[in-house]
Amino acid sequence: MNKEYPYEAEDVFKMCGDYLDDSDMQMIKKAYGLAKEAHEGQFRKNGLPYIAHPVQVAGILTELKLDAPTIVAGFLHDVVEDTQYTYDDLIGMFNEEVAIIVDGVTKLEKVKYRSHQEQQAENHRKLFIAIAKDIRVILVKLADRLHNMRTLKAMPEEKQVRISKETLEIYAPLAHRLGISSIKWELEDTALRYIDPGKYFRIVSLMKKKRSEREVVIQEAIEKIDFELDDSSVSHSLSGRPKHIYSIYKKMQKQSKQFEQIFDLLAIRVLVKDVRDCYAALGIIHTIWRPMPGRFKDYIAMPKPNMYQSLHTTVVGPNGDPLEIQIRTHEMHEIAEHGVAAHWAYKEGVDANKASLDARLDWFKDIVGNETDNPDAEEFMAALKTDLLSDKVYVFTPDGDVIELPQGAIPIDFAYQVHSEVGNKMVGAKVNGKIVPIDHVLETGDILEIRTSKQSYGPSIDWLKMVKTSSARNKIRSFFKKEDRAVNIEKGRQSVELEIKNRGYNPDDVIQDDNVGNVLARYNLREEDDLFAMIGFGGVTVNQVTNRLLEKIKEKEAEIQSNQIEEIDRTHHYKDITTESGVYVEGMDNMLINLSKCCNPIPGDDIIGYITKGHGVKVHVKTCPNIVHETERLIDVEWVGNKNVDKRYQVDLEITGYDRNGLVNEILNLVASLKVPITRVNGLADETKLAKVSLSIMVPNKHELHRTVDRIKQLKDIYSVERVFK
Ligand code: MN
Repeated sequence: MNKEYPYEAEDVFKMCGDYLDDSDMQMIKKAYGLAKEAHEGQFRKNGLPYIAHPVQVAGILTELKLDAPTIVAGFLHDVVEDTQYTYDDLIGMFNEEVAIIVDGVTKLEKVKYRSHQEQQAENHRKLFIAIAKDIRVILVKLADRLHNMRTLKAMPEEKQVRISKETLEIYAPLAHRLGISSIKWELEDTALRYIDPGKYFRIVSLMKKKRSEREVVIQEAIEKIDFELDDSSVSHSLSGRPKHIYSIYKKMQKQSKQFEQIFDLLAIRVLVKDVRDCYAALGIIHTIWRPMPGRFKDYIAMPKPNMYQSLHTTVVGPNGDPLEIQIRTHEMHEIAEHGVAAHWAYKEGVDANKASLDARLDWFKDIVGNETDNPDAEEFMAALKTDLLSDKVYVFTPDGDVIELPQGAIPIDFAYQVHSEVGNKMVGAKVNGKIVPIDHVLETGDILEIRTSKQSYGPSIDWLKMVKTSSARNKIRSFFKKEDRAVNIEKGRQSVELEIKNRGYNPDDVIQDDNVGNVLARYNLREEDDLFAMIGFGGVTVNQVTNRLLEKIKEKEAEIQSNQIEEIDRTHHYKDITTESGVYVEGMDNMLINLSKCCNPIPGDDIIGYITKGHGVKVHVKTCPNIVHETERLIDVEWVGNKNVDKRYQVDLEITGYDRNGLVNEILNLVASLKVPITRVNGLADETKLAKVSLSIMVPNKHELHRTVDRIKQLKDIYSVERVFK
C-alpha cells in the first residue's frame, strides 16, 4: 500500500459491496479474475505486476460510486489493447455494454500510421466518438489517465512532458467541462510538476512554509463559524479547503502576482442541508467578519455552465487576512466534485439535478455530434480542428486524378472539390459504375462520376447539413448568397424580428449597429443584409443569430443584476445584535419599533424611522410615498439580525405579461419550486391580452426577493415585475 497504488483488489470489492448488489459483485470479481489472468507476466515500468494498474483504475472509479459496467470496464480497460482478448470475447464473457466502454478507451493498432501525430489524432478522434456514444468511456479514460499521471515518475523525461501536455490540453479541460473537478485538480497539479517543475516545487515549498500558521488561523475561523451556526441552529459541516497548486500557478501567471498576493490561500467550505441554509449561513458569516466588496458570487442563483453551484464570499477574517468561504448544500458539493459522474452514482434522490446532468450529457453529445454545420466562428474553429483530426479517404475521378477528402465525405463533397459548377449542377452520382444516393459515404479507392444537368435548379439547403468538407459548405452558401438574395434578406429579417419579439425584446432596440456588428464579426460577414440573407437560406439558424444579437444586452442585464447583488451584500452584514423587529435604533433600546404596513420594508431595503406620537418608531422604506415628504420626526435606523432567524416578510409584487393559458400557474409553480411561500394571488386580464398578476410572497430579505424576481422575469411572456408599495 502506497500513494501511487493505494488499492488492493479486496479494497475495491469492499467499497463496491457498499453500494452494488450481489450480481454486480459477481461480475466485478469475474472481471478482476480475467484481467489478472490476461495481464499475467506483464509488468509496469516500476516492476510491479501489471494488474496493479487496472485495480487502481477500478478503485478510482469506485470512489466515484460508478455503476457495475464502469467498474468492470475499469478492470478490463487494457485487456483488449494489451492482451490476446478481443472485443467479441468481452461481449461473450460479459456484455456489449462493457465491451463498448473498453473498446472506447482502446487505442487503434499502431501499424497503419506514418507518424506519431497521425496516430495520436486518430486515437483522439476514436475516443471522442466513443464518448459521444457512452459518456462512461471518458470516466474510465480519466481514471486511467489519473493513475498513469500518479505513476509518471517511472517514465523517461520526454514522455513525462508529452503526456503531461496532453493531459493539460485535453483531459483536464474535458474533466472540467464535465464537472469532475476531483479528478481535474489532480491531473492539473501532477501535469504541472512535469511541465514546469521549477515553479511547481517553489509553490509547494511556499505553501508548506505557510502551512502551520495558516492552519492555526483556519482552525480558529472554523470554530467561530461552527459556534455561530450552531447558535442559529443551521446544521452544517465545515472543512478547510485544500488549495490547488495549478490554480495558484495560473493566478500568478495571469495576474503576474507574487505568491503572497494571491488571496484565497485561506479557504473554508461550509456544507449545509438546503439552499435556504446556504443564504442563512452567508448572512451569519457576514455578521462575524466584514465581507470584502466585489468578492461575493452567487453561483446558486446563477450556476456555472458545468453545473457548479455554491456561494462564494471573501471576508476580512481573523488577523485581518482575507478568508475565502464557499457555502453549498451537500448535494451541490457532490456535483461540484463529481459532475456528470454523479449521474451514475445516484440511482435515486437526484431528481432535482437529474435534469441538469442529462442536459450536460446532451451538451457533450452535441459538441461531438454537430461538428461542422455552422458558420459561427467559434464552432467553426472547433469544426476545423475536427477536420484536422479526422482521417482521410482517397477517391478517383474517371480520369484517374486523386482527390483527398475527410472520412465520411459524400459525392457532394467530391463534386464541389472538382469544381463549384459541377457541384451546383449535380443531379446524381455513380460510384464504381453504380448509381448511389448523393449522401453515400465514400471509401478509399472509389471511382466517382458526377452526373450534372444544365436544367438543375442548384443545390438544396439540406446539403449544408450533409457535406463533410468546409469547402463544399462554403460553395453551397455562396450559391445561395447570389440566388434570390432579395427574397432571402426579407425572409431572414422577418424571422429574426419575430424571434426577438418572442423573447420579449423590441426588434428596433436589438437590431442596432453595435449588436449587429458583433454578429457580423463573428460570422465573418460584411453587412447586415448578408446576415439576413444567410438566415433566409438556412446557412445559420434564427436562434443562433438571435442569441448573438442579444449577447451585449444580456451582458448589461447581468451586470446590473450583479451590481444589485453587491449592493445587497453590503447592506447584508447585520450587526451582532438581534431585535424583535430586526431593526435597531441607535441609543433607543426600549423603543417600540414597528415595520410600517404601507411599504412592508424587508432586510436589505434602505430604511428610515418615523417617530410617531405614542406608537414608537415606524420603519419605512426610504422611498415610501408616505414618508418622502416628511422632514421632521425622522430618525436613522438600521437592519440587524431578527430574534426569530426564520422570520419572513411579506412583499407585494405586480407582474405584467402576455395573457395566455397557464401563465399564472407557471408563476405559482416557479415560486413554489423556489420554496418561497405565497400568501396571496390575484390575476386580471383585459381585452388587450395584457395580464396583471398581483402576488404576495414571504421572503427573509431583499436578496431572496431579487432572486425570486429574477427567476419570474425569466419566464416566457413576462414583461415586467414590480414591487408595489401601498
Ligand atoms: Mn491503462
